[in-house]
Amino acid sequence: MSRLIIRLGIGLLFAIFGLINYFGHVTENPVTGEQQRVQLSPKQEIVLGRQSRDRMIERHNGLYPDPILQAYINRVGNRIVKKSTVSYSTYPFQFYLLQDKRTVNAFALPGGQVFLTAALLSRLNSEAQLAGVLGHEVAHVVARHGAEHLAKQQLGAAISHAVTIAASDSSESARQTAILARAINQMINLKYGRQDELESDRLGVRFMIEAGYNPRGIMELMKILDAANKGAKPPEFFSTHPDPGNRISKILAIIQQKFPNGIPKKLEIGKTRFRKIVGSRL
Ligand SMILES: [Zn+2]
Repeated sequence: MSRLIIRLGIGLLFAIFGLINYFGHVTENPVTGEQQRVQLSPKQEIVLGRQSRDRMIERHNGLYPDPILQAYINRVGNRIVKKSTVSYSTYPFQFYLLQDKRTVNAFALPGGQVFLTAALLSRLNSEAQLAGVLGHEVAHVVARHGAEHLAKQQLGAAISHAVTIAASDSSESARQTAILARAINQMINLKYGRQDELESDRLGVRFMIEAGYNPRGIMELMKILDAANKGAKPPEFFSTHPDPGNRISKILAIIQQKFPNGIPKKLEIGKTRFRKIVGSRL
């Protein structure tokens, strides 16, 4: 009887410890201003993202073998990062074009690794549309949706420890290796919730406008994907980034609120440049 009580007591202590761990780590996000519950530090997110990067690249048939296209993706991505509020974040962003010609999708890993597939790029026809994709993915990074996801699953503390060990020279135990593998797996297969998507849409629109891109690009992107969604093989983008219809109207409302008198002409669409660089290479 008393053993049972001790066991229950220990169980209860662990539960309380878990709750304190979850609710105890509240930090303010420097870009979104939001109060967040995450256990991973930005440095640990960067390590986790780097550890997951190769798996992501492997899964999508490797990198697209064209340095000019890779450089272009990086240039557009970096313009968003450097010329918007994202510049306040400390994440070292990197942008990759994946060779996958079938999966229409884009991804972000914690810490600044951003990817899009050749299949998605081939459906676009302007730089503003590309900026729309990359701005949205960058938003997932700065809003720390991956770290939030791990915290919600009560995995944050364990992973935080495993990542620290992985980043140091000390040898990893089998348990830590397993935890890290689990975290990498979670990040590679991450499906965001509706709220995360809406937040990334909102931030992505803001970032692309700050970087001088016409937000019509993100509307066009959503419409292209939505049209494809009605076809025989819907784009995977919507399985990892849910709820297209509702998102389009919400994005439109954000743009109209920001520019009640119409979108300023100086904001760039970049159709010619896009066609010149991407058109002949994909
Ligand atoms: Zn998303």
